[in-house]
Amino acid sequence: MASKEPRVTLSFYKYFRFGNPQLIRDHLYLMWDQLNVLGRIYIAHEGINAQISVPDAQWPEFIKSLEHLEFMNGTRLNIAVDKSGKSFFKLKITLRNKIVADGLNDASFDVNDTGTHLSAIEMNQKVQEENTIVVDMRNHYESEVGHFRGAICPDVETFRESLPLIRDMLATERDKNIVMYCTGGIRCEKASAYMKHHGFKNVFQLEGGIIEYTRQAAEQNLENLFVGKNFVFDERLGEKISDDIVAHCHQCGQPADTHVNCANDHCHLLFIQCAECAELYENTCSKLCQEYIHNSAEEQKEAGKNKIFNGSRFGKKRYNPKRNMSL
Ligand SMILES: [Zn+2]
Ligand SMILES: [Zn+2]
Repeated sequence: MASKEPRVTLSFYKYFRFGNPQLIRDHLYLMWDQLNVLGRIYIAHEGINAQISVPDAQWPEFIKSLEHLEFMNGTRLNIAVDKSGKSFFKLKITLRNKIVADGLNDASFDVNDTGTHLSAIEMNQKVQEENTIVVDMRNHYESEVGHFRGAICPDVETFRESLPLIRDMLATERDKNIVMYCTGGIRCEKASAYMKHHGFKNVFQLEGGIIEYTRQAAEQNLENLFVGKNFVFDERLGEKISDDIVAHCHQCGQPADTHVNCANDHCHLLFIQCAECAELYENTCSKLCQEYIHNSAEEQKEAGKNKIFNGSRFGKKRYNPKRNMSL
């Protein structure tokens, strides 16, 4: 059970050479478990990618714990705007081959030749330029509920899919300004280098992603050009950036931007549902799932055998945001 104490939700990432990822994993676990830190952290030889929450009461201790971690030097902490505290339920630190599943062979191009980083104020200037194309590097279920005005939002389910697709889509635009953004900046680190490798000359990336942009825009009183919700990979599934509702209920089509998982655990489809449909369908994605949750255990077992729930309703493959977690 999640504790009710107030918490700071934050994320950070760093490309850093870890000689022994297991060692740093165990070290972080021992240290942060004691501070009651919750969340998901991926560690690879190439770096670390973390989305966590820290109890307010432990915050000073947490900050102190970062001081002796060499890789945290110069690493920006992206602190969530929303302080509802509803975020993670346990601490999980996992070893991975890569900190973002990008499907790229890093040896085939110069991963350090990244795009020019843009601050919020620079972002606002850049997007006004006639020559600029803004590209959302996130997946469709993220950009569906919120995005930069005028951005291209590719219809992709994974980051891995998006890279070649965007490269081909913009093949005739190699001289334009390509401005990329994602949630916290991590995806653009490799994606911008990939685009430059493929002949795009003017590649820019939003420093710290939507999270840092929003923070800077508020701090400096800039116009926030992001409309809608910023999809986040914790239990909240989204942070409101503007009051606009840019998406629609997948069931009735009225404006809505609340992501839910189907209440039928055998389906668990992630989709957008309005409050009325939530009531009408009892938090499920369809009549089929609604009937299913009222079936007896025996009937449920039978239906499971028939593989009724293959997760391909709405013509979309089932997606599990937790599996695709990235910043
Ligand atoms: Zn609806
Ligand atoms: Zn369902």
